[in-house]
Amino acid sequence: MDLCLIDKTVELLIAADHAIVLTGAGISTESGVPDFRSPGGIWERYDPTMFFIERFLAEPEEVWRCLLDMHRSSEFSLWDAQPNKGHMTLAYLEKIGLIKTVITQNVDNLHQKAGSGNVIEFHGNMLFVRCLECRKTYGYEYVLRELEESFPPHCECGGLLKPDAVFFGEAIPQDALRTSFREADDCDLMLVIGTSAQVEPAASLPRIAKGMNSHIRGFGGIPLSKPRCHVIEINWEPTPLTGQVSDFLIQGKAGEVLHTIEQKIREKYA
Ligand SMILES: [Zn+2]
Repeated sequence: MDLCLIDKTVELLIAADHAIVLTGAGISTESGVPDFRSPGGIWERYDPTMFFIERFLAEPEEVWRCLLDMHRSSEFSLWDAQPNKGHMTLAYLEKIGLIKTVITQNVDNLHQKAGSGNVIEFHGNMLFVRCLECRKTYGYEYVLRELEESFPPHCECGGLLKPDAVFFGEAIPQDALRTSFREADDCDLMLVIGTSAQVEPAASLPRIAKGMNSHIRGFGGIPLSKPRCHVIEINWEPTPLTGQVSDFLIQGKAGEVLHTIEQKIREKYA
């Protein structure tokens, strides 16, 4: 961990008028949240087609059996995971007014559990379920109670319940898209944490923040007239953003890097 870059980040956070954060799976690995794609991840044990919306609509019983198996599994305990120092730091920075918004690609609810209030979720939230008819949401306590009556679980209105995460083949929620693009356009500092941001729509955000044309990839695109914005990466390894889009990369575990940033800020604010 480069302490000069930590100091620089603290300086920029304090100076920023509108700092925002983009997070991905890398911030949650220290909470033991299973990765989907890597070796030993969820896709090695569960059939990925279970998370296609067509499959869910065609065979909800089958998909719900898989979901309940995941829910009961101690190995893939998305539901029991607790926020780590990284999530806690972001909640603290929001509380003292140094960051405005967290945009996340994660579905694990850990930013909210840590106390972040302004969270935009691109891919929904696996800890809740939503009625496909009336859109009402429920926690899993309701699902487990409901299962004693009917399977697959249904809403009070009779509609089928589906996990509130975005399945393959489903659109990213429009309001999340709109708000996050506006945030990227308005921000003067963006922290990109635990993600290489290669998959849309997250891929566009650091480029929009930098005033680069979001659809031109590779060498960054055309700078538009946007006020100067810093993009800082906190990632375990360099990514395609490094040296192309981000100002600099702080290499390390997200939780440790963020905790060090928090300590430095607490010293200044003490
Ligand atoms: Zn309903």
